[in-house]
Amino acid sequence: MNDFLPTGIQLSYLLAASLFILGLKKLGSPATARNGNAIAAVGMLLAIVVTLLDQNVLNYQMILVGLAIGSAVGAIGAYAVKMTSMPQMVGLLNGLGGAASALVAVAEFWRLLEHSQTIPLDVNISIVLDVFIGGITFTGSAIAFAKLQGILRGTPITYPLQQPVNALLLIAYVVGSVFLVMSPHNLGIFLGITGISLLLGVLFVIPIGGGDMPVVISLLNSLSGLAAAAAGFVVMNNMLIIAGALVGASGLILTQIMCKAMNRSLFSVLFGAFGQAAAGGGAGGDDGDKSVRSIDPEEGAMMLGYSRSVVIVPGYGMAVAQAQHNVRELADQLERLGVDVKYAIHPVAGRMPGHMNVLLAEANVSYDLLCDMEDINPQFEQTDVALVIGANDVVNPSARSDANSPIYGMPILEVDRAKQTIVIKRGMSKGFAGVDNDLFYKDKTTMLFGSAKDMVGKLVSEVKQL
Ligand code: NDP
Repeated sequence: MNDFLPTGIQLSYLLAASLFILGLKKLGSPATARNGNAIAAVGMLLAIVVTLLDQNVLNYQMILVGLAIGSAVGAIGAYAVKMTSMPQMVGLLNGLGGAASALVAVAEFWRLLEHSQTIPLDVNISIVLDVFIGGITFTGSAIAFAKLQGILRGTPITYPLQQPVNALLLIAYVVGSVFLVMSPHNLGIFLGITGISLLLGVLFVIPIGGGDMPVVISLLNSLSGLAAAAAGFVVMNNMLIIAGALVGASGLILTQIMCKAMNRSLFSVLFGAFGQAAAGGGAGGDDGDKSVRSIDPEEGAMMLGYSRSVVIVPGYGMAVAQAQHNVRELADQLERLGVDVKYAIHPVAGRMPGHMNVLLAEANVSYDLLCDMEDINPQFEQTDVALVIGANDVVNPSARSDANSPIYGMPILEVDRAKQTIVIKRGMSKGFAGVDNDLFYKDKTTMLFGSAKDMVGKLVSEVKQL
């Protein structure tokens, strides 16, 4: 395994790695992202073909069987999954990436054990790290999947001595790993640290609150890359090391962006059990005497059509309803009437990083019209109507004012500062973080109840008649 690969293969790997880097660079802007994806895909194809031609490949039949089964499951899964379940699917794929990398380490350990071969120190350390990172990624992603799928509600699970127990398990892993590195053929210790890693993945993710999930998902994405890089060190494959490091590094950058968006430090997300109050705490536990003002599409169209400026705030509900094309049509109609229309994008709106950007790009909304939080928040006071379409947590003022709210401190899109706010949603359900939203009860807010696609469609018809 440790043989140096022939120069041709190394050069092809270098080319593939360069294509990955170029692809990643182009993914940085929506305008060049499609090209970037294609370039990185060519790099991956090259890497796979070269790896298959590599003289270290022992059994092509097994690879073909694996390829056929994996492709069939992947293709069926990709066709069957609803667009709205994409975030869960991505979470699951992260986890499977981690599991695959950990299995590489398990297989290599087994092989060396079976042949009673000496395990070199560097390989041994890589195995121990691979099992740890891959194991945590696998079970952590499974829990993240369950939370996104609604199997485990966004509610964080906490219990006494949670952090000390996690710390003890971590120490047990470190001690076990040191022992294994010193006496490499100890199967019992190997199984022990593998079990601890799998358990830690579960224990790290269950206490994390709904609103902090984006940070965890980005981190798991990064860990899946680091696990692949560790697997690369186990089997001494440069391509795997480079590709894994790129995924790991870009995932870490994304994690940092998500932390900034939530105004949390990574440490506090992982160890602070944020969102503990999500189960019932936060704004408006007593909504008994609060009332909302509901309007119909005709009234909504008049408010929008006769205003000078409208800011559209899309959220998860727009994704669920697949309303992005209708939203674009509404914006076109409003612009026809001379209304200045912009879109305000919260970095954690939806269920995956960049969710809203992807949907709006699919509907050919110009990138120039998309505003981030820092740009748009100072403009809300001069905005005639903020139109919230299926967003909830990202416009919840309790993040600003209620220190008991699980989303307290998270920067929000300040639609409550606009002259009027129209909220489109189906009922009074809470958002992902499970917190009531005082925005809906404010005097300046009107509710347009219904599915986003249906309601925006009706608004388009009404605005056309103005
Ligand atoms: P939220 O999840 O807070 O709220 C979505 C709202 O959409 C719900 O209140 C729901 O109300 C409404 N809705 C659902 N279906 C429809 C529909 N068909 N038509 C109209 N409305 C609908 O969404 P936000 O985008 O505001 O916030 C995202 C949340 O998800 C944040 O808490 C974020 O932390 C979390 N998250 C984000 C991730 C990311 O990477 N972006 C990953 C994981 C979690 P009703 O049922 O009454 O219609």
